[in-house]
Amino acid sequence: MSLIVQKYGGTSMGSPERIREVARRIQRFVREGHQLVVVPSAMSGETNRLLALAKELNPEPSARELDVIASTGEQVSIGLLCLALHNLGLKAKSYTGWQVRITTDDAFTKARILSIEDSNVRADLDAGHVVVVAGFQGIDAGGNITTLGRGGSDTTGVAMAAALDADECQIYTDVDGVYTADPRIVPDARRLATITFEEMLEAASLGSKVLQIRSVEFAGKYKVKLRVLSSFTDVSSTDMGTLITFEEDESMEQAIISNVAHNRDEAKITVLGVPDRPGIAFSILGPIADANIDVDMIIQNASTEGLTDFSFTVHRNEYKRAMEILQARKAAIGAKGIVGDDRIAKVSIVGIGMRTHAGIASRMFGALAQEGINIQMISTSEIKTSVVVDEKYMELAVRVLHKTFELEKDPTEERMKA
Ligand code: ASP
Ligand code: MG
Repeated sequence: MSLIVQKYGGTSMGSPERIREVARRIQRFVREGHQLVVVPSAMSGETNRLLALAKELNPEPSARELDVIASTGEQVSIGLLCLALHNLGLKAKSYTGWQVRITTDDAFTKARILSIEDSNVRADLDAGHVVVVAGFQGIDAGGNITTLGRGGSDTTGVAMAAALDADECQIYTDVDGVYTADPRIVPDARRLATITFEEMLEAASLGSKVLQIRSVEFAGKYKVKLRVLSSFTDVSSTDMGTLITFEEDESMEQAIISNVAHNRDEAKITVLGVPDRPGIAFSILGPIADANIDVDMIIQNASTEGLTDFSFTVHRNEYKRAMEILQARKAAIGAKGIVGDDRIAKVSIVGIGMRTHAGIASRMFGALAQEGINIQMISTSEIKTSVVVDEKYMELAVRVLHKTFELEKDPTEERMKA
């Protein structure tokens, strides 16, 4: 018998019929003798609907009240799911975040989990219940309801698995695993049987929407065995989705590059002709940081005649604000001009094999050059290389890189043939 935490996304909970399907899947695991904690999201579209309602009444809503409102989506889900489980003759009991006592900090709309009191859940499990815990929410030290940021039910699932020391955390979603690239862009993208935790973390931060990045961080910190699966496969399916692994196991599928990620959520700003002297980066990025705007890539050019250009990227939603801040400070910075572009995209290759293989980045640049795709910015880490390109070439870049690194081929099969 093992203890399994299952998280179901909004699409999986999208209608009464879908909820019945989720209940049947849970029943199958219970029949196999497992103990189950289930974390559902709000029904698909519900969180957006609630937030839109809030904004209709007040365009600048209080973050505390937003959380009171948004957290109700998951409360409805846990109750409905328990009813469906009761219909199948299963014992099931629901808990909101505050009833479990999932304690968070007080950063409304993006709170972090600090601790989980698990005694109620354990007692119910021991009494033979399926325990259904609302995703996405908690309570701060002052007793206020908080939410964990969009996609936060993933983090609730992983955090419950960590707190309960579960054998596995299964994330059921509308895709059946993690792919070598977005299959909507690359038709022969392949599902990965495994991906290392580090690669998953990079992929999540580079634009893969499969898991909320905080949930991956959490899994890494507490070594939670995490698996991504589809809730759309048949209930009796034994499909194992994609497992996120921690050890670099020799027998595992091991490619140099595991996936190509893309992201069109960023915009680029260039400050032209600034004097090249100490303090210049600070004078540009300081006010941006003060406005709580995150900066991703940064490039400073070599200077000619004492002047240099300075480029960086921000989230597209914050592009206008960042431009305004810099325009207002143009004279103080001593810049000749400020230009921006919000039609850019970031395309990245990710793989732990980059640590031990030289020349991967140059192969990437060569492949893009061959297609005439201009690279505007580059950034690298140990296990990824990202480039910024014109948005209109994004899909082409993803396809070309997928082909260049032969990601459509299964390395385990290749090895068996050899
Ligand atoms: N319902 C929340 C959202 O839509 C949390 C989640 O689904 O994970 O972001
Ligand atoms: Mg999600």
